[in-house]
Amino acid sequence: MIEIDGSAGEGGGQILRTSLALSMCTGQPFSLTRIRAGRAKPGLMRQHLTCVTAAAEVCGARVLGAEMNSQSLTFEPGPVRAGDYRFNVGTAGSCTLVLQTVWPALLLAGAPSRLTLGGGTHNPMAPPFHFLARCVVPLMRKLGANADLTLRRLGFYPAGGGEIDVTVWPAAHTLAPFDVLERGPKVDAHAECLAPALPRSVAQRELQHVGAAMGWPPAQLREVPVRQNEGPGNALMATLVHEHVTEVFTQFGEKGVSAERVAKHLVREVREYQASDAALGPHLADQWALPLALAVWQRGGSAAYTCTALTPHTTTNFDVIARFLPVRFTTAPRGAGWLVTAHG
Ligand code: ATP
Repeated sequence: MIEIDGSAGEGGGQILRTSLALSMCTGQPFSLTRIRAGRAKPGLMRQHLTCVTAAAEVCGARVLGAEMNSQSLTFEPGPVRAGDYRFNVGTAGSCTLVLQTVWPALLLAGAPSRLTLGGGTHNPMAPPFHFLARCVVPLMRKLGANADLTLRRLGFYPAGGGEIDVTVWPAAHTLAPFDVLERGPKVDAHAECLAPALPRSVAQRELQHVGAAMGWPPAQLREVPVRQNEGPGNALMATLVHEHVTEVFTQFGEKGVSAERVAKHLVREVREYQASDAALGPHLADQWALPLALAVWQRGGSAAYTCTALTPHTTTNFDVIARFLPVRFTTAPRGAGWLVTAHG
């Protein structure tokens, strides 16, 4: 039984999700104590609980402590079963974090799986749908793990109600680790605004401000058509496509925060990325660690990436990964960023 201290490092929900994912991938049971002790409201919130129940369903795990607000959990995984699954967070909690939990295990299963995920699709503190579809999926494909993601309905806090369909294809052979050291030449850059059930002027003002600050003409500024029964909500996104990596940055509008301010925060995030020539932004840097470690574990050797920043979230993730896999991460400053290497 691997014993994990949920208060270590960043002390957040990622420790739980990474533990669940790698427990399923490796068949090793774990016990987790002091769950999310670093957060104002510690323990399992609904979104975390959905991750636990989803993981348990996918591998028929024996679980103790899967209750709201629980601060300890024991998880004994069984064999991973590909299949058709429906997981609903039931609130506006992020359904993309549920996907992050079960995706690694399902790609190692012997057959395709089809998932329908309900909840928030664009939440602060979680990968937005577009980030997973544009940034993570292409990297996963290159690793040898294909997945198709379809956005059925947007879900924002507090109403939720979003839905994502996912097909996870089994990895053909063993995963193939690769280096992501350079972005490569720029291919495209654009901003998009999601603002269902809000006045059109919100999206127009946000996009105008981004265009003016970045020097992007109207062709690079897009209002996304709204479907019925979506929102209210507001996400302003910038997508930077380079030959080897795509980055999506997202800021969320909220009551009392002006459109100009939302745009200003997005521009700052994009500029921070542009000020470095490292390949991955701060969020991709923490999310890429687990799939890369799985590939290095399967094939041996080492693989590396560069990133603009190393957050406590990322370094905490490295530590949890190393508890489940014989893979060690080293980091070294490189230019205006970091070089991260996963050693098998
Ligand atoms: P909590 O304990 O409150 O649940 P957590 O550890 O689960 O916290 P975060 O630390 O906020 O949650 O991060 C969750 C995940 O969401 C991380 O993998 C992070 O990189 C990702 N993430 C957060 N914001 C973004 C964003 N704007 N774009 C892409 N990914 C994001």
